[in-house]
Amino acid sequence: MTVPRDGKREVRATLELHGLSPNKKLGQNFLVDPALLDAIPGDAGVQAGDRVLEVGPGLGGLTRRLLGAGARVMAVEIDHGFVRLLRESLAAELDSGALGLVEGDVLAPGESFHPEVEDWWKAGPPPRLVANLPYSVSGPFLGRLPGRPLAGAVLLLQREVARKAAAGVGEEGYGPLSIRLALRFSVSLGRKVPADVFWPRPKVESGFLHLSPLADAEDVEEGILREVLRDSFGQRRKRLLPRLEKSLPEAARRMRELGIPDDARPETVAPSVWWEAAKAVRIPSS
Ligand code: SAM
Repeated sequence: MTVPRDGKREVRATLELHGLSPNKKLGQNFLVDPALLDAIPGDAGVQAGDRVLEVGPGLGGLTRRLLGAGARVMAVEIDHGFVRLLRESLAAELDSGALGLVEGDVLAPGESFHPEVEDWWKAGPPPRLVANLPYSVSGPFLGRLPGRPLAGAVLLLQREVARKAAAGVGEEGYGPLSIRLALRFSVSLGRKVPADVFWPRPKVESGFLHLSPLADAEDVEEGILREVLRDSFGQRRKRLLPRLEKSLPEAARRMRELGIPDDARPETVAPSVWWEAAKAVRIPSS
């Protein structure tokens, strides 16, 4: 089989040839700018031998660049038509073991990824994440990252989700996701990308998000932190501490000790204070 090429015309022709068409629900907006595709592995700091997770390889444009940079790639694709095509066009890489391909949803219930991804994650050094993420999975995907060993991530996603993930205290979008990420990673917005690097063109703005692990990240009990945040951001309009007092009194007490006033709103409380509050919650012994 010939290797699919990356321009807009070529992508359309490849899909047509295989009786496929872009599925909006699955966020199938393909990167059709070869120069951008060429730049991504370098921008993501991918080195030969790195383990890389790619969500949604689609026709494999980015996958081939990652493999070309010497990465060992694990790719997860939900669309059977693309998996079939990738199995043919990247047969040699699959045979050599440079590429692993899982067919299915990258997201599993709870806070997990697809079981094969979970096994792969644990089976070697911390991976890098490099992907043009489908819109529907971006938020839940990012929410599953805190607490996992990670070498770094460069993800192309909806600009609004990237902003939310990178928001600092008091900024628009600051909330549970940005707080949990900030406690583990240095999070920054990368460049915006114009809609015409995709086909079909998305209706929303897109841009890169960069995550690199904090060397001094302290151990955070993710389950408790999530509970404290869920409780506090669930009813943002109410005063934070009087309400938290009822559900998680130790967390409320710790916040008071740290000088948080009763009428504070959750979006004004810094990540380090949320972490201190979560640490103060006693885990019931089972
Ligand atoms: N990587 C290709 C590119 O850059 O041209 C395609 C990216 S496209 C934005 C998103 C891809 O993710 C599609 O191939 C889609 O089928 C796949 N996808 C959507 N939801 C998924 C999920 N829950 N799990 C795994 N793959 C998914």
